[in-house]
Amino acid sequence: MPGELAGYALLVAAGIGLLAVLVILRRERRSVEAERRDLPVAPATEGMKLCPTCGEGNLWTDATCIYCGSKLPG
Ligand SMILES: [Zn+2]
Repeated sequence: MPGELAGYALLVAAGIGLLAVLVILRRERRSVEAERRDLPVAPATEGMKLCPTCGEGNLWTDATCIYCGSKLPG
């Protein structure tokens, strides 16, 4: 039946169109993530205080070094 065939063809075309949109959206989202990854990232020691004894970075909230147990300044 020609009518059914036309309806099926339309359904397939709509499915392909939807799939293309999904692929394009996914590709755009991936490129945005890639751009974000290329941005310069702050070094890990930023916002940390270095232990005067062992030189390891500790959180500003730490009173003693988590690595060697020395008392931290500040
Ligand atoms: Zn230390």
